[in-house]
Amino acid sequence: MSRTILVTGGGTGIGRAVAEHFAAQGDTVVITGRRPGPLNEVAARNKKMRAVSCDHTDPEALQRLLEELPGRIDVLINNAGGNTDFDRASEAEPDLASYAQAFRANLEANLISAALTTKALESRLSAGAAVVQIGSIAADQASGSYGAAKAALANWNLNVAAELGPRGVTANVVSPGYIADTEFFRDRLFDDRRSALIDATATGRAGVPADIVGAVAFLASPAARHITGQVLNVNGGARTTR
Ligand code: NDP
Repeated sequence: MSRTILVTGGGTGIGRAVAEHFAAQGDTVVITGRRPGPLNEVAARNKKMRAVSCDHTDPEALQRLLEELPGRIDVLINNAGGNTDFDRASEAEPDLASYAQAFRANLEANLISAALTTKALESRLSAGAAVVQIGSIAADQASGSYGAAKAALANWNLNVAAELGPRGVTANVVSPGYIADTEFFRDRLFDDRRSALIDATATGRAGVPADIVGAVAFLASPAARHITGQVLNVNGGARTTR
């Protein structure tokens, strides 16, 4: 049966791979992001896809998104996010105001965006719908405000599971390890850091966006209807501090 699926941040990286998977199997897929360019490029290649620009940290933009969406959503993938503090992390002693601004930006991008999106859509989720959050291995490591935001996302997901469970809606987190070839890390990781991330895996390689698709597809499928409030790590057996 064809479903209607919303993939936030679906114009690039992991979100794009997930969106293309669902579109290829015949689902109707809405992809969102702030920049129209990547979204329109992906949607132009997929008849089953529609692009809608939206900043998921902005409640007014989410209201506008609701007007653009079909009435019923069967799967919500809260994928939009990323480490907004990447380039500042090496600053030795930022002043307190810029520290606060950078910290808040990561919470907005990775926690509040997902919370607002789920809240905006909850009455539109069909019975038996699935919500999948894209977390991060950073949640289980000392990873600054980004890791803190992703850890809070996994905790907050427990509330979604509890609140929407009676309607048959599941809510789970897929937690990737280091995934190469997305905008998230491109040009930002020095070679020694990249090597360390790969060395920490059992598989001895970086993941790619396609590695995340199976876990998301499973948790969004009827086969996973009794799985909720869980975190599924997809990280090549990478060591964490947990
Ligand atoms: P990308 O940067 O390619 O994807 C992030 C996407 O989110 C972009 O399409 C971006 O589009 C969108 N986005 C970011 N902020 C917003 C916003 N406020 N509103 C709407 N869209 C937004 O990187 P990845 O594919 O790697 O990242 C996808 C997810 O996976 C993120 O949540 C990231 O934290 C997580 N992750 C990634 C890992 C990796 O190693 N790559 C590891 C673990 C987790 P635009 O800029 O146009 O808004």
